[in-house]
Amino acid sequence: MSSLLNWVALLQPDLVLADSVSKITPDLLAQYRLKGLILDVDDTLVSTTATDASPETILWLTEIRQIASISLVSNNFKRSRIERIANSLDVPYIFGAGKPSRRKLRQAVTVMGLPLEEVAMVGDRLFTDVLAGNRLGLFTILVEPLGRGTFLRGLELFLFKILKRLMTLFSRI
Ligand SMILES: [Mg+2]
Repeated sequence: MSSLLNWVALLQPDLVLADSVSKITPDLLAQYRLKGLILDVDDTLVSTTATDASPETILWLTEIRQIASISLVSNNFKRSRIERIANSLDVPYIFGAGKPSRRKLRQAVTVMGLPLEEVAMVGDRLFTDVLAGNRLGLFTILVEPLGRGTFLRGLELFLFKILKRLMTLFSRI
């Protein structure tokens, strides 16, 4: 039971943004002492229905990268899509990452050369992005999904609430 409790705790983001990734400000990075951002791609940086980052996202990235190392880590197996997006933004990328596995996140952090606690995993999904980031000991930021991710995300939050409620009940026994 305690391992399940730990697992549920790992689904809890350190920060929930009720907005898209472009609302991550330099002030916010300073507040949490963050110097690196690992960004999920689909529905975090670019809507799954789009092939390119929006002008708003490009502008945000141009500014934020002046104070933080940026890396894209996507579970998407379509190399052409992730490569195209990463190249247009001029940032390193990893595709087919297999989150919630920590392996590729660790690889991205190593390239950044930063301590784990100074890097945030930013994504729209609890069971991949947040779980992987928390498992590695990164700061985790959950953002609002850009496109069709909304349904899946609603389902995830619903499941998470049920799991938390169950854990609270069991912990009283
Ligand atoms: Mg995503």
